[in-house]
Amino acid sequence: MDEASLDSVLLTVPLSSPLHPKASMPFLKGYITQKGFRSKIFDTNILFFNWMLKDQDFDIHNKKYIDNPVSLLGLYNQIEDSLTEACSAYRGLGVDLRTINFAYNRTYFKEVIKAIKDADANPMIKFYNEFIETELLHLNPKIVCIGVTFQDNIIAAFTLADRVREKLPSAKIVFGGQIITRCYDKMLADSFLKHLWDYLALWDGELPLLDIHNRVVNSSREPMRNVISQNTDNDTDNGFDLTGRQHGVFDLNETIRPDFDDIDFDAYFFPEMLIPLQTARGCYGSCEFCAIPSGSNFGFRERSVEKLIDDIKYIQELTQKKYGKKATYFKFMDDTSSPRTLFSLAQQIIENGLDAKWETYVRMETPFQELENMELLFQGGCRKLMWGLETNDPQVLKNMNKKVKHISTNKVLDASYEAGILNFVFVLLGFPGETDEQRTNLVDFIAGKESINVLTVATFDVTKHSPMQSSLMDGNTWNLDCEMPKDFEVRLIYTLDGENWKKKIVSYAQKFMLDVTKKRPDIALVSLFPDQVRGILTEKHNNKWGETFLKDFGEENLKKMLQATEGYIDIFANSESGEMELSYLPDPIKREHFRTKDDIQAISKAIARRRRYEIKRGDSI
Ligand code: SF4
Repeated sequence: MDEASLDSVLLTVPLSSPLHPKASMPFLKGYITQKGFRSKIFDTNILFFNWMLKDQDFDIHNKKYIDNPVSLLGLYNQIEDSLTEACSAYRGLGVDLRTINFAYNRTYFKEVIKAIKDADANPMIKFYNEFIETELLHLNPKIVCIGVTFQDNIIAAFTLADRVREKLPSAKIVFGGQIITRCYDKMLADSFLKHLWDYLALWDGELPLLDIHNRVVNSSREPMRNVISQNTDNDTDNGFDLTGRQHGVFDLNETIRPDFDDIDFDAYFFPEMLIPLQTARGCYGSCEFCAIPSGSNFGFRERSVEKLIDDIKYIQELTQKKYGKKATYFKFMDDTSSPRTLFSLAQQIIENGLDAKWETYVRMETPFQELENMELLFQGGCRKLMWGLETNDPQVLKNMNKKVKHISTNKVLDASYEAGILNFVFVLLGFPGETDEQRTNLVDFIAGKESINVLTVATFDVTKHSPMQSSLMDGNTWNLDCEMPKDFEVRLIYTLDGENWKKKIVSYAQKFMLDVTKKRPDIALVSLFPDQVRGILTEKHNNKWGETFLKDFGEENLKKMLQATEGYIDIFANSESGEMELSYLPDPIKREHFRTKDDIQAISKAIARRRRYEIKRGDSI
């Protein structure tokens, strides 16, 4: 490609897992390229990790790490130690393999604005200055597209935009991704960040990006779909309906193939290549607490099995040519995959004689109860399934609207395990109305269920745009009191029965994990590994590798982990924000710590604010 004539660059920003690239940009590039535009992907997430680590060589592609998972765990600890050391040069910075923490709260526009100018606290300023100088200036792209999928991406994304404005002033800046789709209303209502973007691309990125390319590159005056424009080109797009989505739905089969040509798989922190693909977007469920169905375009849409097989073949050819070996492990970055597509895909993988292993996210569905169906999935490459279990209590499941009335969770998990698949379950604690007894029963259920290999525990949130949040607008039967979301908040500040339920339920969740890990050391061991490696380890060592490698991990290490967990729980219970030792904690506890720490502080402040108001009101009466 003649890079000097690039139309756009597509950029993923820190922080997400450095173990593999994301699927979004290769799919977008595939679509934009087939429409005749010239585009290039930069995964600045992995570039940032390597920049922070000064390109240290961890010998990460050595096969010994796959053969001995305990040494892999040691390697990740070593990388995290090096990251901690690199962070010490910046005020209030914390980076590990899963999360980033700044001295500033990424959720609020005012804080983001401060963060993008504070070079003592924000390494992204220096990183992006260098990146733009070496990689972007000579390309002089007309459009710079920045994906903001997680809250952890926010400060990096706006720092990048700020640097692009200074160094490439003629480039049009486009923001897209889940966070933008969920928070564009707040971005429009406030002027803080407006100077840092030209277009917002909402919901599925393909159609809006195509229209923006046509507008900027070809000077088209056609109306743009699902785009918010700053009117910098005397746009006439003033008719955007802020409450709805324009022009229906993007058909996933319109993309001939995703384009991974720009991805350097050698750069990722994993001994093997882990390839992200998509079988579907959206979800056909409507769980009360979940905003996923509203984050994508209308409806649940799937890519055809024929196209999925083509995607696998193309990637295997590409990696064989580029790296001298075929990529064989795929992760479907779906919100939910349907049983029908998975069965058909497995059948086609077998019939095509492909060496392709994969993992994905699934709902509890009736066909998964049958052993022969799960054996078909295993033979057709499935090595790990991530199940939305939430709880085993029928009443709580009904309240959540999980729609699993006629399904036996036991049968599903047992059939999957027996077939050789690693079962990862999502547990959600603290849904309103859930009792202590129901939570205790859940600990016993999980600890006694051999077919559960690993779990993650999330605590109840009122999520922006979830069915529950919409119904709260007209009062509610849950006794929930919520504040309207501000800025980049996607979880509402709430109290339940007037108390800080979040703080309480996070404490329950820690205790829950401790109880499970005490009873199930194999779950404890598997939970220490980054999620991305668990499926590949299943392929190499079968789905019982947690038990197999327990003895190599050593009793002493296990004791340390349990002690660290207990110590953490004590500190958490007695302080709102104290510094805590997080190494040696199981992943679900660490993850929930970072996910909720800002929320818990915000809720405490909200309660204090409410009390002050009530006292003042009482005084004035
Ligand atoms: S929780 Fe899972 S099944 Fe329910 S709506 Fe969300 S993605 Fe779908």
